[in-house]
Amino acid sequence: MANVTKRWITEDHAGGPAIEFPLAVFTGSVDGPTVAVVAGMHGGEYAGMLGAGRVIQRLEHLPVRGRILIVPILSMLAAFRRSMQLSPVDEREVHYQWPNREGSYSEHLIELLLRTIGKVDVYIDLHGGEFAQDLTPHVGVPWVANDGLWERSLALARAFDVPFVTRRPVRDTPLALPLLLLDAGVPNIWTEIGRNGLTDERYTSLQYDGLVNVLRILDMMPGEPRAFAPRVVGPQH
Ligand SMILES: [Zn+2]
Repeated sequence: MANVTKRWITEDHAGGPAIEFPLAVFTGSVDGPTVAVVAGMHGGEYAGMLGAGRVIQRLEHLPVRGRILIVPILSMLAAFRRSMQLSPVDEREVHYQWPNREGSYSEHLIELLLRTIGKVDVYIDLHGGEFAQDLTPHVGVPWVANDGLWERSLALARAFDVPFVTRRPVRDTPLALPLLLLDAGVPNIWTEIGRNGLTDERYTSLQYDGLVNVLRILDMMPGEPRAFAPRVVGPQH
């Protein structure tokens, strides 16, 4: 079995409430990649939180290879206060923040998240359908060039059984975190699976099955991987 640790990450924030979020870390007895999974960046996107929680429960009973770090709810205050899309503390969109320990609450949150997970080989963000969003399930794949990083990110997206993936040229957008990760050489994606702040089993399963599939594709947990063939939409370069 994997070695499992679960703890709260907490840090005081100057001029505001303390930052805190839960972290589960699974360390296999065999070396392998390090994968970070983060859900609950936005307070009402429950399918990702529930999918991540289900993966935590599953991994407790399996041998794994490498390290898997899972934050099932990043924006705890947004979740508790049912704050849609924005942080209830500084009213910022967390996905757009550059890390800054001395900055605003959301900038500090991103900085603490990245400091906590450290160097990772793969990063997966689970999003989906805030209270006001009735989304078709899809996966966002950040793009800066037709390089190996794009191909590796796209391969992660194909682990999810969704009808399409969106190619997102992030260099000229506010999407700071996906760009920062690409610039650090880390393939990454964000799912958009879920709708209207609901907890439909269909969407929780899509998140869960996709994550399990990612870990199988990376040969980090037992089971046969599957690859899907979602249509790739978005600007072509
Ligand atoms: Zn979101």
